[in-house]
Amino acid sequence: MPYKIELGDIIETKKKHPCGSFSFEIVRTGMDFIIHCTSCSKDIWIKREKLEKRIKSIKRNGIILDKSEY
Ligand SMILES: [Zn+2]
Repeated sequence: MPYKIELGDIIETKKKHPCGSFSFEIVRTGMDFIIHCTSCSKDIWIKREKLEKRIKSIKRNGIILDKSEY
């Protein structure tokens, strides 16, 4: 079941960015995603499949979504 990830969502990943952050904003969706590190502002291209495996939680409008919602 694919995740419903939307533009602007803030995701928390299992693996941290080299800068130490676990928090990324979704700036492009599709087969390939671009996630923006909220700490060092780097943009990272990532395949949907790979991204889904790394997601720990999704935050939308400041609220962490329940697992059943994505
Ligand atoms: Zn970073």
